[in-house]
Amino acid sequence: MAVLRRRGIRDARVIAAMEVIPREQFIPEAFRTDIYGDHPIPIGFGQTISQPWMTAFMTQVLELRGSEHVLEVGTGCGYHTALLAQLAKSVVTVELITELAEVAEQNLRRLGMGQNVIFVCGDGSGGVPQYAPYDAILVAAGAPETPQPLLDQLGPGGRLVIPVGSMEDQELRLITRGESTFHSETVSLCRFVPLRGSEGWDSKH
Ligand code: SAH
Repeated sequence: MAVLRRRGIRDARVIAAMEVIPREQFIPEAFRTDIYGDHPIPIGFGQTISQPWMTAFMTQVLELRGSEHVLEVGTGCGYHTALLAQLAKSVVTVELITELAEVAEQNLRRLGMGQNVIFVCGDGSGGVPQYAPYDAILVAAGAPETPQPLLDQLGPGGRLVIPVGSMEDQELRLITRGESTFHSETVSLCRFVPLRGSEGWDSKH
């Protein structure tokens, strides 16, 4: 975790939670080499688990204090879900690929985590309106634009972190909501797999 601190991760709760969640348990055995390396790792189905720094950084910018209701779009293997579940009150996580959604749920259950997580399988590019509003939304795949439904599902004072850009390269945006206004800032450059779905790359783009 020293490498995270060196690279600017300051939120002690994020670091403490990452120290106790066994990352290797979320990575299929065939890919379990160099799992703490500073790069994404394949998890099957053409998807990846983000490098530890990016996971930590995205979580840090959400400024979770323990009372929040969080939406995660792109469950993947569930590692980030586990982290969010440790740091917030409740998590709704949505994954498009059924097999991954199932593996993620099993991963969390096997580790006795995730009692406060609702697993949803389907297109999450337009959020999950039935559990909205959210205090924080984390999108783990790159979108062509910020989907309007995600903004609509963000509660007052809420924070949304999302990679926005091309299929290959994106900027990581942090969008914060006041009572009725939104403020957007770019907090990093990044490279995520594409966000599919009706509000992602399967729309008009
Ligand atoms: N949070 C994960 C990252 C997974 S990669 C981790 O850190 O391990 C991004 C995930 O987003 C992939 O599993 C992909 O299948 C999923 N995804 C892409 N488009 C989606 C959509 N429209 N709705 C839900 N999940 C989506």
